[in-house]
Amino acid sequence: MTKKLIYDLTLDELTHWVSKQGEPKYRAAQIWEGLYKQYYSDPASYSNLSKTLKKRLDQAFIFSPLMPSATLSSRDGNTGKTLFELSGGARIETVLMRYTSRNSLCVSTQSGCAMGCTFCATGQMGFTRHLSSGEIIAQVLYYANILRQSSESLTNVVFMGMGEPFQNYDACLDAIRRLNDPDGFNMGARRFTISTVGIVPKIKKFADEGLQVNLAISLHAADNATRSSLVPINRMYPIEKVIGACKYYIQKTNRRVSFEYGLINGVNDSNLQAMALGDHLKGMLCHVNLIALNPTDGFDNTGPKQERIDAFLQILTAKKIQATVRTRRGIEIQAGCGQLAYQQSNML
Ligand code: SF4
Repeated sequence: MTKKLIYDLTLDELTHWVSKQGEPKYRAAQIWEGLYKQYYSDPASYSNLSKTLKKRLDQAFIFSPLMPSATLSSRDGNTGKTLFELSGGARIETVLMRYTSRNSLCVSTQSGCAMGCTFCATGQMGFTRHLSSGEIIAQVLYYANILRQSSESLTNVVFMGMGEPFQNYDACLDAIRRLNDPDGFNMGARRFTISTVGIVPKIKKFADEGLQVNLAISLHAADNATRSSLVPINRMYPIEKVIGACKYYIQKTNRRVSFEYGLINGVNDSNLQAMALGDHLKGMLCHVNLIALNPTDGFDNTGPKQERIDAFLQILTAKKIQATVRTRRGIEIQAGCGQLAYQQSNML
């Protein structure tokens, strides 16, 4: 019998399995609590279950789908990333960012990515496979358990690691719904952010879900020629359509959209681009995060000088667009935006 990943199950599915074992239904709630409140990663950890049930759990399910093969920490200790191997040999990276008042986890939703954004190390390595909802959840629980050992907790989860979340839509939404469960991990919907490169039909679908989850769009350019050269999916979903879908999301949810804009020296950092960006976003409930592009081996350019970043920001501010410059983090361990690409050789 092939073992299933226990985090892939809903509580209803787990209850069904428990009933099939001839056990009372409340056992499912006990197992659920062990997984999502105690972060057990082994049936042996349950002191409230019989030996027989623990044995059956062990025979039927995988509890530890992530094999950490390397961990790195930035010099200031505020950013850490772990390279995990999954079943079948696929690899992912997960990044923890510690701030003064929050701990944010950046999870992967695919091993590799098929979107091929030219500046992104994940895009440069191609696509391996989708992650299941349980494999996404397992990244969260792994880090929640680590943080608990220093009496800390995770405050935010961002779907900004390897992969395009909306290419693996159902698994991402299932993971959020399960982690949102008040009888389990109980992380509020507003603490999740999904970042997409702009898959228009999925943005609209996401708007219709009625969730309070945050939406971030990786925009990176204000004209279609430049954006298509950086983000190839722009040829299918050009800027105007992406912005239109975002307006629909705002209208449906009344939530602010974040636009991520990686400034690249001489490519998308001109005053003209800033003005065009301001025109696109005029009157929208949104915020722009500017970040100087992080270096990657496969892309022969990097972020502009500070004066250019400041000038870009000033133009947006003058156009009454809310914008901030984000600090780059974890660059020296390739844990910054666009740098994730399971470079184990660099990590050991
Ligand atoms: S930026 Fe995001 S969507 Fe583009 S290649 Fe990288 S991981 Fe994929």
